[in-house]
Amino acid sequence: MARIAVGGMQHETNTFAPSRADYGAFEAGGGWPGVQYGEPVFAAVAGANIPAAGAIEALRAQGHQLVATAWGAASPSAHVTTDAFERIVGELISHLKKALPVDGVYLDLHGAMVTEAHDDGEGEILRRVREVVGPRVPVSASLDLHCNFTRAMFDRCDALVAYRTYPHIDMADTGARAAALLDRMVRSGRPLAKHWRALDYLTGLPSQCSFIDPCKTIYEDLGRDGETTLSFTPGFPMADFSECGMAVFGYGFDAQQTFNSVERLHGMVADAEKDFALELHLPDEAVTRARSRGEPGRPVVLADTQDNPGAGGNGDTTGLLKSLIQQKAQDAVLGLLIDGESAKRAHEVGLGSTSLFKLGGRSRIPGDSPLEGEFTVEQLGDGRFTCTGPMFKGFRMQLGSMALLRSKAAPGVRVALASRKCQAGDQEMFRHLGVEPRRSRILALKSSVHFRADFEPISKEVLVVKSPGPALADPTEFTWTRLRKGLRLRPLGPAFQG
Ligand SMILES: [Zn+2]
Repeated sequence: MARIAVGGMQHETNTFAPSRADYGAFEAGGGWPGVQYGEPVFAAVAGANIPAAGAIEALRAQGHQLVATAWGAASPSAHVTTDAFERIVGELISHLKKALPVDGVYLDLHGAMVTEAHDDGEGEILRRVREVVGPRVPVSASLDLHCNFTRAMFDRCDALVAYRTYPHIDMADTGARAAALLDRMVRSGRPLAKHWRALDYLTGLPSQCSFIDPCKTIYEDLGRDGETTLSFTPGFPMADFSECGMAVFGYGFDAQQTFNSVERLHGMVADAEKDFALELHLPDEAVTRARSRGEPGRPVVLADTQDNPGAGGNGDTTGLLKSLIQQKAQDAVLGLLIDGESAKRAHEVGLGSTSLFKLGGRSRIPGDSPLEGEFTVEQLGDGRFTCTGPMFKGFRMQLGSMALLRSKAAPGVRVALASRKCQAGDQEMFRHLGVEPRRSRILALKSSVHFRADFEPISKEVLVVKSPGPALADPTEFTWTRLRKGLRLRPLGPAFQG
């Protein structure tokens, strides 16, 4: 039995997004449990599809004694404030010091955190952890598939392993994989051989889905590799710093085999470049198609990808909603529109009342504005419910006041409002407001890919829509200033010139 310290801090930073992640964002969690320190970490994550939960369960099953340090996560957004980073990492480090001596450390990290002070938030966390435990205590971490893998992370950590699914249905499993690597190092007293390679092109989020090729084939292939634990991270192409991008990495006891496996995977991803292109639709065209194709029981899903709260959007742009209303779509529901003021107003005017609302458009995204019109309040909710879909199963949501509104101008269009940011990744978000998603003709979801876990099985087809938002689906459209020279901004696209 070994003594293992566990902790973690997750944030995915879109440096182009409108709002930063302050300490309050980690207290709220944005769908994740709120930040916790010490022993309460165990109860906060238990039973959910969270990497730390999977790691804790696996490490206990391996017979280890665990000490919790700190764990926190927030909704993706612009930079993590220095205050939030220092408070959470400060607690993590002070709990780690109190826990000494430890035989190993497991960390639940995202891998794409940019703070006000550090381009590579995880590299900085690992530096501080290493400072406490020294060079010989093995440190293992799980990473999000949207990690921007860095040299510092590779150097300062003994084992890193990323999710293999997008939608992330294997978050807890990935924690267990990181735990297995840690267990091997602790038991053998030997470090693992490691190798990594960066790729020289960026891909947009919608084409990174592991349900479709090329990622489907790539992940199936790397899952087959026995001795080496391999990862492929398509990255988070919305962070303007020199190490933004895709990478492959692997860990195993056999150095030559580890090197060969990573090189082979690198070749496979490099060869797949042309296959990462994905068709994007403009809102009007997407709504026209969805109107003719959707039927109750088999809705067409429109993914409002560029305002995905899971990629730094605030979930309040109205471009797709305007198209639905203009075209008077039938049996259409859009959600979640994150607008606390309108949700509060709906609770004030009350169930069944019709009133003038000014929906969304508060983030002042170029090309976007609030939608004004009369809406009837059809349902109210307190935003507390538990998710049931394959990805968010067991997540206890606290989205604040929620409301379902029906447009007077286009009575076939309804909008699901929430007060706190969260992407539309689970059918319970709609059922909480009395909407059975399957019965709609059109479901417009503010999500890039995670919705596919719970919504694709009930959908007739999925159209990825490009309406205003800060999470641009085509990385060439960002005003990059700090990428590494020569990196192609999309598959087979132009290279960054510096
Ligand atoms: Zn992710």
